[in-house]
Amino acid sequence: MIIVTITILNVIDLYVNKVYNKYMKKIWALIIILITSFMLFGCARNERIYSSDGFVLDTYVQITIYEGGSQKIADEAFSICSRYEKIFSRTDENSALYKLNVKGNLTMGNDDNKELATLIEFGLEYSRITEGNFDITVAPLVEIWDFKKAEVPSDGEIKDALGQIGYDRVQMDEQGISLNGTRIDLGAIAKGYIADRIKEYLVKQGVTSAMINLGGNILCIGDKPGDKNFTIGIKKPFATDNDVIIGLEIDDKSVVTSGIYERYFEKEGILYHHVIDPETGRPAEAGLYSVTIISEESYVGDALSTACLVMGLEEGMKLIDSLDDVYAIFVDNEYNIYYSAGAEDFVR
Ligand code: AMP
Ligand code: MG
Repeated sequence: MIIVTITILNVIDLYVNKVYNKYMKKIWALIIILITSFMLFGCARNERIYSSDGFVLDTYVQITIYEGGSQKIADEAFSICSRYEKIFSRTDENSALYKLNVKGNLTMGNDDNKELATLIEFGLEYSRITEGNFDITVAPLVEIWDFKKAEVPSDGEIKDALGQIGYDRVQMDEQGISLNGTRIDLGAIAKGYIADRIKEYLVKQGVTSAMINLGGNILCIGDKPGDKNFTIGIKKPFATDNDVIIGLEIDDKSVVTSGIYERYFEKEGILYHHVIDPETGRPAEAGLYSVTIISEESYVGDALSTACLVMGLEEGMKLIDSLDDVYAIFVDNEYNIYYSAGAEDFVR
């Protein structure tokens, strides 16, 4: 009996060992798979950052991808700037806009003209919304205010240029555009529009976190890895050391600043800057140093920030508060800061 019992116990022991060995192999395999996937997953969270930068659109451009991209995608996104520069430049003799301004009309035809027509349509929309404080037909004035030569145009020149502007002259239909004696400058809206197109491209490629910086015009995709907002500093007007006046926390939005300090010259103690009041034909004198707009689309922020700089605090604030999902931060010429409804929520 004892012998039988021992034999049975031995058989059970042998069986348990066999089962243990068989499953142990599987358990180890499972552990190895888990560790490998954890390592791979860990790498995915710490994804490489891809960046492409350089001087284009008359400014420093940087595109940084934090999640979902590659170097090729970052470089491709950067090259979008040069492609659009060739269409929207007012001064490049080969650009679609230059040809339109010289000829006075354009037929839709090729893709460049269609793209130009799209941006002109957006420009006209915001010229109307801002009642001409932002006006894409400001080109005759921009031409005489030459910031390289740093010369003040004569009263006669200003009067003559004023007689050529007015966004309501521009006629557009499916066939084409007629300027009816005016000329177009897209300098106050093109960067925003291009940033929007870059974002569109990156999102299509599967990018889920990125920052597009076109000379301080910022457009974010998503938030920063780890569910953190992007932090964006608003430059202190006229500061020489990149001093920041306000820090913002932004996710998936555009932050565009228009400031009189960006391009200007001084003559006999007077500062002449690059944002022209289409009513007077002279640099806007609204008592503001800068206006920052937070919006979904960057072309909207670009157009509105320029417009508000011309409109001034009271009128500009009224306009911004009448629009949905658009926020403004005004800095006046004594460095006082004013927020539109809800704008302060973005301050860090
Ligand atoms: P931003 O830096 O976006 O404010 O754009 C300024 C540029 O827009 C200037 O350099 C001009 O080319 C053009 N511009 C100046 N004044 C106006 C205006 N009132 N409306 C539209 N564009 C303007
Ligand atoms: Mg602008």
